[in-house]
Amino acid sequence: MEGTRQVAVVGGGVLGLSTAVQLLRGGAEVLLLTETEVGSGASGRSLSWLNAGGGYSDPYFRLRMAGIDRYRTLLARNPGVDWLAFDGGLYWDDDPFTVIERHNEQSRQGYDARMLDRDDVPAEVPGVDPGVLPHRVLVNPGEGWVSLPHLVRRLAEEFTLGGGVLIEHAGLCTVVGGDGAPARGVRTGTGEEYPADAVVLACGAGTPAVVGQLGVELPNASDKAMLLISAPLEHGLRAVLNTPRISLRPHPGGRLAMDHTWYLDRVVQRPNHSWDADPAVMAELAAEASRVLAGNPQVVVESWQPGLKPVPADGEPVFGELQAVRGCWVAFTHSGATLGLIGGELVADEILTGRRHPLLEPFRPERFGFGWES
Ligand SMILES: Cc1cc2nc3c(=O)[nH]c(=O)nc-3n(C[C@H](O)[C@H](O)[C@H](O)COP(=O)(O)OP(=O)(O)OC[C@H]3O[C@@H](n4cnc5c(N)ncnc54)[C@H](O)[C@@H]3O)c2cc1C
Repeated sequence: MEGTRQVAVVGGGVLGLSTAVQLLRGGAEVLLLTETEVGSGASGRSLSWLNAGGGYSDPYFRLRMAGIDRYRTLLARNPGVDWLAFDGGLYWDDDPFTVIERHNEQSRQGYDARMLDRDDVPAEVPGVDPGVLPHRVLVNPGEGWVSLPHLVRRLAEEFTLGGGVLIEHAGLCTVVGGDGAPARGVRTGTGEEYPADAVVLACGAGTPAVVGQLGVELPNASDKAMLLISAPLEHGLRAVLNTPRISLRPHPGGRLAMDHTWYLDRVVQRPNHSWDADPAVMAELAAEASRVLAGNPQVVVESWQPGLKPVPADGEPVFGELQAVRGCWVAFTHSGATLGLIGGELVADEILTGRRHPLLEPFRPERFGFGWES
């Protein structure tokens, strides 16, 4: 859409913010609207392991690697920040064949992956108790983590200082247009309308609902998730750990961030949409963190944040302009930490140049055609 000057971005998570900042850098006038506050969605409670080693399709692997590349540049320009690090990842499983298969697949794609003997772990991956490890583990030296609340705050600052207009507490916004017509702007939950030449929907787990109002179905597998943050402690961990009972990484302020899936049936959303979690989960996950850390330090949970995690039904990202509603772009993905910077960059590029980006071709919303099944 050449000549686009005014763009409205809906959703104040990492994808909305990074798209908005890139649009602003490219010379557009940008309005960012979000339901409550920036960072209040999944981006406020994410483990944010930056990785590409999960046996992904080749196009998705490439996109994730480009995502990691953008974070590496960000870190090179901001050395020493305490909210972004590339100190590697360590993976193990109870089934040794799962680890070997993962290593083989990663090596096939050229991902930095090495099998390591348990005894060599303390020298290569400090902070882990080797006594809990199986004989062989998988090390990925190129992986990292980010604290998304820190990144989102930083992007919001650049956005507002650069002249972008941020509207928080806009309620559930909808697109003005559709029904065969292009998007013309955004309507807030309280009825105000803002005209725009293009609209970006980056509403996290809420994206399929907004797109659905335009008559386009985005099959949705968004699911429960819960992040726990510890109180500060001496832990010596630098890498991201992915283990059978816990995923764990350092967090700013000498804390740890942790999550997993085994407890999710004990996390419930009430009919009034608030969330509840079995308090025993906090103690069990903290005990597991203590068990895998060198010296078994006491881990105290300071906060826990349940909520939805955005996931498209086929597990691959959804990026691009809706062919049924021209001028309306969608950014809906899981692993939105890894893809946060690259996703925003490429969506903004398409809007600013009017050209479809080849890296996004496999991820268009239209792949869920009539008859799509999970
Ligand atoms: C526990 C957990 C662990 C995770 N681990 C990882 C990981 O290790 N690696 C990784 O890469 N990713 C991970 N993720 C996923 C990643 O955090 C998310 O994909 C990413 O944060 C999504 O960002 P977003 O901007 O798309 O959505 P969000 O951060 O959810 O932001 C969307 C915003 O839009 C607002 N909104 C919704 N509907 C509307 C509407 N109609 N009008 C206005 N505003 C609206 C919401 O209130 C919200 O603030 C994890 C997520 C969770 C929860």
